[in-house]
Amino acid sequence: MESKIIFLGTGGDSIIVGKQIRASGGIILQVDDNQFHIDPGPGSLLQAKNFGVNLRNNTAVFATHNHVNHCNDINAVIDAMTYGGMDRKGVAVCNKIVCNGNDDYTPTLSKFHRNCVEKTIVLEQGQRLGINDVEIRALSAVHSEPHTIGLKFFTSKFTLTYTSDTGYDKTLAHEYKDSDIIIFNLQFPGNMGKTHYLCTEDVIKILKDVKPKLVIIQHFGVKMMNEDPLNEAREIQKATKIQTIAATDGMVINPSSYAGMRKKNLKQY
Ligand SMILES: [Zn+2]
Repeated sequence: MESKIIFLGTGGDSIIVGKQIRASGGIILQVDDNQFHIDPGPGSLLQAKNFGVNLRNNTAVFATHNHVNHCNDINAVIDAMTYGGMDRKGVAVCNKIVCNGNDDYTPTLSKFHRNCVEKTIVLEQGQRLGINDVEIRALSAVHSEPHTIGLKFFTSKFTLTYTSDTGYDKTLAHEYKDSDIIIFNLQFPGNMGKTHYLCTEDVIKILKDVKPKLVIIQHFGVKMMNEDPLNEAREIQKATKIQTIAATDGMVINPSSYAGMRKKNLKQY
């Protein structure tokens, strides 16, 4: 199977997602016979249909944190994936709160649906896991949901980092190193960064220390939409000389064309 990244939604904050100015179906990563569905927010099923993605083919579904725009449809996606548990298959990879909840949050992943998949795995910052021949590392994130994780996928063809929602921290660059592609959740333009969200200048700062072949920005908030993500992508590209794309709903990227020469030694965990 040819590798693909398909954006089922690129909306960020509650205004953009609430009005579906940009959709919120998450990201599909197809690589080495795997189909990973990352952060299935509201509308995942419809967006999958709209962009020709068969959720039955999901090998794993990931939820990086327990905010609605990242995990709301995890049960619906597992239902579609497994025919409501009749065909028990695949893996649900969640952060701690999506799976177990805490004082502020009830867990979004239902008890019923965690039994529809073969395995439910709770992933905390710094932990690793292997799914088939892909190694996945949970990265740090500075976010209001305290157990939020970023994700780094080490495939046989390329290394892909997905920041999830995070504010700037100087340790992030180190964790993103050696990625061929980085997908930044970039909610704010210019220098409008917040403790729990990145802005364009934060991304430029991170890219002073990390040199991926491709940067993709997505997860736009209303201020970002007002400034136009395309302009912010141009700013990043101008400042860093790294090819930068502002994702749109339904955009498809072939990650293999940005792959490095090296091949990773993959280990199962
Ligand atoms: Zn969030």
